[in-house]
Amino acid sequence: MLVLDTGTVRLHRLVVGRERANCYVLEAGAEVVLLDPGFDADAISVYCSGLMPTAMLATHAHADHIGAAAALESDFDIPLSLHADETLRHACAYAKLVNGTALDIPTLKLFRRLSFGCLTVQHTPGHTAGSVVLYGPGFVCTGDTIISHRLTPTVRPQCPAKLAESLAWMRQTFSDDTIVYPGHGQAAPFGVEWRYNPTIRETV
Ligand SMILES: [Zn+2]
Ligand SMILES: [Zn+2]
Repeated sequence: MLVLDTGTVRLHRLVVGRERANCYVLEAGAEVVLLDPGFDADAISVYCSGLMPTAMLATHAHADHIGAAAALESDFDIPLSLHADETLRHACAYAKLVNGTALDIPTLKLFRRLSFGCLTVQHTPGHTAGSVVLYGPGFVCTGDTIISHRLTPTVRPQCPAKLAESLAWMRQTFSDDTIVYPGHGQAAPFGVEWRYNPTIRETV
């Protein structure tokens, strides 16, 4: 469903898979970015059929954020953009564990710097080595770098020291009223997450 319309950016949210991950579609002028295509490829494909994504991006390569990427790549003919520091090792292990099958690996387009019109991708390592956030005017999509403060348990980062640095960068960059669209759970102002998010409180 459409959750934000700033005039320049329209943001849609779909909740996908048994981990209830947030998949977002961002319309920004000519760019339509499909962010975090977790599971439920069919539902995402149907929702996006009128939006025609021009790019597909993952905040990180955990399976609940990329599980549908290979199927959607064939629907929309777009590779999955992933930060060059990210690894598919965890996603593959998870897919084997949960589904008993190998993860369908999409074509990858590795990047170090990336933007889509008024949308900027920033490397925020910590949750994983190649985690990124995607931000635009007044909002930021955080993947699992920040999941909703209302959700438990807390998310253990791969590298707490790196996460602390990434969170410090976010604190400097985003105002308290910037809306956080997290990897899991409901959106909230950055100031609220900063105060009440247990993972943030344990990390910084
Ligand atoms: Zn996740
Ligand atoms: Zn994750």
